[in-house]
Amino acid sequence: MVELVRAAKAATMIPGAPVIDDAAILVDQGIIKEVGTFATLGRTHSGDVLDLGDVFLCPGLINAHSHLELAHLRGKCPANQGFVTWVEALLKQPIFDLEPDALDRAVEELKRTGTIMVGDIATRFAKEMAGMLEASGLFFAVFCEAIGETVPKRTFIPSGEFGAGFISVAGHALYTTHRDVLRAAKAETRAKGLPFSLHLAEHDDEVAIMAGEPSPFLDLLQARGRLLDFEPPKKRPVQQAADLGLLDETTLAVHCVKVTSDDIATVRAFGATVCLCPRSNEFIGVGRAPWEKWFASGTPLCLGTDSLASNTDLDLWNEARYLKEHFNGGLSLDDVLAMVTRNPARILGAGNTLGTLEPGKVASFALVPESLHALF
Ligand SMILES: [Zn+2]
Repeated sequence: MVELVRAAKAATMIPGAPVIDDAAILVDQGIIKEVGTFATLGRTHSGDVLDLGDVFLCPGLINAHSHLELAHLRGKCPANQGFVTWVEALLKQPIFDLEPDALDRAVEELKRTGTIMVGDIATRFAKEMAGMLEASGLFFAVFCEAIGETVPKRTFIPSGEFGAGFISVAGHALYTTHRDVLRAAKAETRAKGLPFSLHLAEHDDEVAIMAGEPSPFLDLLQARGRLLDFEPPKKRPVQQAADLGLLDETTLAVHCVKVTSDDIATVRAFGATVCLCPRSNEFIGVGRAPWEKWFASGTPLCLGTDSLASNTDLDLWNEARYLKEHFNGGLSLDDVLAMVTRNPARILGAGNTLGTLEPGKVASFALVPESLHALF
């Protein structure tokens, strides 16, 4: 069916393209055929018109970092007490008890708030989460998380073919995952042409552990039998990630809170993309990333909600609003929208199908809320 979708405004998110007033998008079988003004496209179109009225359309949103496995932990972990307290509380929870109802609610919330794709970390149930997402109608990149000291004999990535996404592998973090495991995980993604994800420079304890300094979090890990013979690289996290070969143009580095100007320059030089999780960082109490420096560096940026164990909801518009409200200096609506549309689409391997409104792409839309638009 060919249909013309009309909206008062549309941001195509094609770099440099202006917002279109009285916009029209010609859609055939769910694929965009043409984008322009209603005055132009309406003239030659004789089929159905779906007039959305006084709304501001943009491409469907992409949440670059979530952990849907933890959907049942909404409201279960304490806010604002620092990373160690948060992890201790998390570890007391039934982390791996998937709850179908909670997952359904999470997916419903993603859809209701305009999200069409997730970059989702799966610590234990990558195949199940990919299957669940495939059935949900969302697009996905599920990252099977590598953690610990053992390189699997054959592959990190479980087998499985999916129509709406794929499974790749993520390293959990420099301090929980042996350097050989991280290197092997990255090598597997490289060989398969898939993106790689890594929690990086999230909190002060990560910096201390890497530097070989005392850390309550290292004490906690060692009390649980982890990192007993850990040899600190005596480098900053970003430098260690770079030296292990983990940073390149297919890497999504998540958090990047505890970074120096040199660290930012390093990430930029390697061409990696950074996913900021502002509300998760605030919730856990690790401080905030130097967003302004990241932005000024030209590093491609994305936004992620992180898990419901460290955020109140999965609404990316709330993430965008929080960023804009706390950002010092200039940040345009286009800058913010890029972080939830074309930037994550590219790094998550969906650059040809999602992220912008242009011919050949999937006709998935989100509506920019007035409460966000009013901040610009
Ligand atoms: Zn995470």
